[in-house]
Amino acid sequence: MLSLTNRFLNTLPGDPNPNNHSRQVHGAFWSRVTPARVAAPSLLLHSPEVAAVLGLSDAQMHSPEMLAALSGNGLLPGMETYATAYAGHQFGNWAGQLGDGRAILLGEAVAPSGEHFELQLKGAGPTPYSRRADGRAVLRSSIREFLCSESMHHLGVPTTRALSLVLTGDQVERDMFYDGNPELEPGAIVCRVAPTFIRFGHFELFASRGEHALLRQLIDFTITHYFPAIAAQHADATERMLAWYADVCSRTARLIAQWMRVGFVHGVMNTDNMSILGLTIDYGPYGWVDNFDPGWTPNTTDAGGKRYAFGRQPGIAQWNLARLGDALATLGTATPEVLADALEAYERTYAGEVNRIFRDKFGLRDDAGHASDASENEATIDAAFALLVQHEIDMTIFFRALATAVAVDDLHPAFYSEREWQDARAAWQVWFDGYAALVARQHASPKQRAARVARMNAVNPKYVLRNYLAQQVIDSAHAGDYAPLAELLDVMRKPYDEQPGRERFAEKRPDWARTKAGCSMLSCSS
Ligand code: AMP
Ligand code: MG
Repeated sequence: MLSLTNRFLNTLPGDPNPNNHSRQVHGAFWSRVTPARVAAPSLLLHSPEVAAVLGLSDAQMHSPEMLAALSGNGLLPGMETYATAYAGHQFGNWAGQLGDGRAILLGEAVAPSGEHFELQLKGAGPTPYSRRADGRAVLRSSIREFLCSESMHHLGVPTTRALSLVLTGDQVERDMFYDGNPELEPGAIVCRVAPTFIRFGHFELFASRGEHALLRQLIDFTITHYFPAIAAQHADATERMLAWYADVCSRTARLIAQWMRVGFVHGVMNTDNMSILGLTIDYGPYGWVDNFDPGWTPNTTDAGGKRYAFGRQPGIAQWNLARLGDALATLGTATPEVLADALEAYERTYAGEVNRIFRDKFGLRDDAGHASDASENEATIDAAFALLVQHEIDMTIFFRALATAVAVDDLHPAFYSEREWQDARAAWQVWFDGYAALVARQHASPKQRAARVARMNAVNPKYVLRNYLAQQVIDSAHAGDYAPLAELLDVMRKPYDEQPGRERFAEKRPDWARTKAGCSMLSCSS
């Protein structure tokens, strides 16, 4: 059914102890683990697009063998199960060994295209890296991971994917508000898919322990398999490592610029949640900004410091990359100064990307032939940002409306409060007049005007996975109705299309959702 291989397991040394019990694991990249048996698995949802990439038919997805594999109750031929060791900085502090505490790899599928994809069950039971936790996942967080990773893919944001969402039939105890009132919740397992789940924290683990040979081996493995162009270009190990690190910096910059484009807030940008491939990984207490607020974070655990707030993500990614650089510096082959130079690729790439992205989001051009275009674009965009943060204005609706706005009143629907609109209208009028004049000058012909609208609608989604929409389908699922979940996934498949009849999925956050748990405030409990 699937052609499987396992380069991570076969190339890198592992832990000889086959027990699942929690422990520190030294000198190894992985530990073999056995997924916990679940009581009554059922396939709730799968991604037809991911199945197609893996060459799996609908019949195969619905077969008993597949259900057993996706729930941890059985293996397909060629599957081997293991968890990997990593460490990380959490909320700015060194946290030591973490590892796949509730993620179990099933091996690497070789897709019909020849590409390799690791399959990973999230919530399939304890591993040596579970510390004091149970290795399980609940339905609400699994729905959130499934929906968001697929939505991000369809939005064009690099991400891990989700193949399946399985209800286990087991109950899992969670204290969602950390207030001493645990409740039983339905257990679930998502099968995630990515070329690799290697994180910054994998490198940090070996660096922190002075296990230099293992660190070198991991760098080698990563570059050989996932950065083949860099492997081919550089024979010298240090040069190769530096080129690779600069590439990780650029990829991460492009990723964060995409998050800023669509209004995504990861919520827990710890170094153990940073993919070496520059993918969005580990969907926990993430959120989508409704009103454009750089200070907003969905994560209640982070409410005090707001370290991972929307507008702080670019700086935090850079900080995380510097921690990866520290890990590489322990090898002693590249000085911290040389690594810091490579890290400059981050700022350079981020600045270029965000500039281009927001120019497109505003429908402006810098190739229209006026010497002042670039500076006027910048001033116009900066002025809009200064106004956007003053009032509650829906980011997604605002940008979508700009494409066809002919008067300032066309921006009115993006405002959350009528009073604020009345207060702000005069200032926005001044901005809009300047903006409209600039747009008109840069897009003189009907053909250019049409191209502008098309370009804007390709970067400004109509539909995003608003926090309250996800919570509504979770509430329905808890009541046994999974149809809304499937419908929401379907809407998120075409986020840039108008989708007549589905406008209710593009509406502003309703007032009841402003402070409701799950809609704007999420804990790490999952
Ligand atoms: P996260 O905050 O989700 O990135 O998780 C940080 C660390 O905690 C990782 O090592 C996870 O594997 C681990 N972890 C989170 N939840 C659980 C759980 N329910 N059981 C075991 N380990 C967990
Ligand atoms: Mg994590």
